[in-house]
Amino acid sequence: AAAGDDVIPTPTDPTPTPHTGEVVLETVGARKSFGENAVLSGVDLKVHKGEVVAIIGPSGSGKTTLIRTLNAMESIDDGDVLYRGKPVGYTRLHDGTRVPVSDRTLAATRQHIGMVFQQFNLFPHKTVLENVTFAPVELGKLPAGTAKFMAMKQLRKVGMAAHADKYPHQLSGGQQQRVAIARALAMEPDAILFDEPTSALDPELVDEVLKVMTDLAAEGMTMVVVTHEMRFARAVADWVIFMDQGAVVEEGPAERVINAPEHERTRKFLARVM
Ligand code: ADP
Repeated sequence: AAAGDDVIPTPTDPTPTPHTGEVVLETVGARKSFGENAVLSGVDLKVHKGEVVAIIGPSGSGKTTLIRTLNAMESIDDGDVLYRGKPVGYTRLHDGTRVPVSDRTLAATRQHIGMVFQQFNLFPHKTVLENVTFAPVELGKLPAGTAKFMAMKQLRKVGMAAHADKYPHQLSGGQQQRVAIARALAMEPDAILFDEPTSALDPELVDEVLKVMTDLAAEGMTMVVVTHEMRFARAVADWVIFMDQGAVVEEGPAERVINAPEHERTRKFLARVM
């Protein structure tokens, strides 16, 4: 249309092509063994800005190991782990050898990559508020007053502001996990890794945590989620990765992989868990 024409936007803009754009996190040929046990056998993974990537698969397939490599909580034996194109947790010498970086350098990278664990991992002797302010203050990101203000904002977001002065043991698992999410958000991360965030919860507490994660996804947070919650993966994830025996067997848009899996192993797995 020429300038000045009344252009009526189509009511439903076509969805942007999934799994494209700026790459935030990446593994390239990631290999890892524990003794004789090859846990990652050359995994390529890409996580784009604003995308929710769900990693699914049977127990022992390497999902947790893979997500933990993304912030170097787990080292790899071969291949690369990149955050915005830079190696995470190591540098490469001229001959290509990987050498671990200093704790300080690693901590600097990890500031951008939040992590939420299956077991919440809150500091038991700190209050909810102290749990959320700890990292920003300790790492010199924010002065104490600002950290407190920001923490209350994050706690409101996860519905936990009224519990700011409580200790973790006074909270339900679902509440603790929501605090853990607020704690991750307090560092204003570029992406958040969730390692089976609802697996340790009583069934009636799962939805309150999934709701918070769904809200975060809707706000455009870049998320990687190891999960057994197939309904969540189908509804919230943009991209699903199915792993088996240390390899990516199948990946694609969530709807496609979960509703119409192409591989027999994916079909068998989904038939078992859904
Ligand atoms: P998933 O998350 O898919 O259940 P994991 O990544 O936890 O799989 O584990 C993959 C395999 O690696 C399993 O066989 C597990 O026993 C093994 N494994 C994981 N962590 C360790 C470790 N620290 N030491 C030895 N073996 C491990």
